[in-house]
Amino acid sequence: MKKKLLSALLALAMLLPSAFAVDLYVDGSELQTDVPPTILSGRTLVPLRAIFEALDADVSWNGATQTATAAKAGTTVQVSIDNTTAYVNGQKQILDVPAKLIDGRTMVPARFVSESLDARVLWDVNTQSVYVITPDHESLVVEYLDVGQADSMLLSSDGEYMLIDAGNNADGDDIVRYLREVGADELKYVVGTHPHADHIGGMDDVILDLDVENVLLPRATTTTQTYADVLDAIETKNVPVTVPVKGQTFQLGDATVSVVAAQQADDLNNTSIVLRATYENTSFLFMGDAETAVENAILSSGTNVQSDVLKVGHHGSSTSTSTAFLAAVSPDAAVISCGAGNSYGHPSAATLNKLTGIPVWRTDLNGTIIAMTDGQTCRLTADKGTAALKPPATTTPSTPSTPSTPSKPSTHSTSVDAGGQDDGIPSTVYITPTGKRYHYKASCAGKNATPTTLSNAKSRGLTPCQKCAQ
Ligand SMILES: [Zn+2]
Ligand SMILES: [Zn+2]
Repeated sequence: MKKKLLSALLALAMLLPSAFAVDLYVDGSELQTDVPPTILSGRTLVPLRAIFEALDADVSWNGATQTATAAKAGTTVQVSIDNTTAYVNGQKQILDVPAKLIDGRTMVPARFVSESLDARVLWDVNTQSVYVITPDHESLVVEYLDVGQADSMLLSSDGEYMLIDAGNNADGDDIVRYLREVGADELKYVVGTHPHADHIGGMDDVILDLDVENVLLPRATTTTQTYADVLDAIETKNVPVTVPVKGQTFQLGDATVSVVAAQQADDLNNTSIVLRATYENTSFLFMGDAETAVENAILSSGTNVQSDVLKVGHHGSSTSTSTAFLAAVSPDAAVISCGAGNSYGHPSAATLNKLTGIPVWRTDLNGTIIAMTDGQTCRLTADKGTAALKPPATTTPSTPSTPSTPSKPSTHSTSVDAGGQDDGIPSTVYITPTGKRYHYKASCAGKNATPTTLSNAKSRGLTPCQKCAQ
């Protein structure tokens, strides 16, 4: 009996997303499509022409055979409506669900796009968004890898890659595998922010197994075996080492990475190379384990640290992220890299308190976090659910649609219109046990969201959420 109810609920849950407009982003830019992505039989179908044309592919349609053909830089794909057989460069490929014609548009399974274009397709249930990331994207993508109580971030732009830190010793193989999977076999830069094992632990594996052009290390040494292993790997592969200085810049595709701090100190954490990556009007700050002393030095030097996304210093320790520094960075989102239940108590309650009102993403809770930018707005998504991390509604600024706040539903309001679904009014809405409003988006309702019908919500006297249900 219970089982039956559960499966009925599951079936309902699978159907729910299709009742909503789904936003589509290709390499960080929102793609307005006349027919939005759709969930069918638990599979996400995306508009073939819109995605391929956004990637400068030519798409043609043969009405007689109901076949769409898309060609891009040496790759030709062919799909036929209601047919599970597709062709990529003439090679047969079997789709798990066939291509469908919806409102005159060819919709293909997201997985087919990822396989035929070698792209990643991510589905974010919280923001009801599909993110397509292609290997040679011309924007800037930042990936905060889930390496437990450690740091490792991958930056990519225009086919060039920078790895900032490489986790603990035990993470080396996983990081190498991840980098290979996303096509980052050749790294233009590998940065060891400072010689602590939770930052350079896996760096010897990365250097030995992949093709590394440059290694950046601070002017600091230590006597650990981990550090010796990194130096050995550098020597074995004969990789040039740069000791960066403050103000130096490194070009990474269409992005620029500048050195905000690189100082000598007794405490290794304060030797951390602090980097700021910019792409058009957006920026990302990477603090390593730099503490308040470094933050103060940066502030008194007058260096611009304003950034859309702050990788919080020292895993969220209370010894970093001073109020003054945080105010200068003024981030729209913060990322903390730390391990679940770590013995240091990272992140500290004091740091989390200072971050109140800023969406905080944590590798211990969210898994690997991926940030994308179109040059104006940054958006974040993650492996695991993010609802638990959203700031309470009371701390969300009421100003409409400020850029770079990934979890704010207001940035998605336009897509409701673009979707053209019953004037954007869904028959299913989300409510919470104690809330006085109903929401169109589960993400807006928060972690206690439960679906119900619009008429039920109205009969309970609930009123529409001002942010997502207008
Ligand atoms: Zn650390
Ligand atoms: Zn450290």
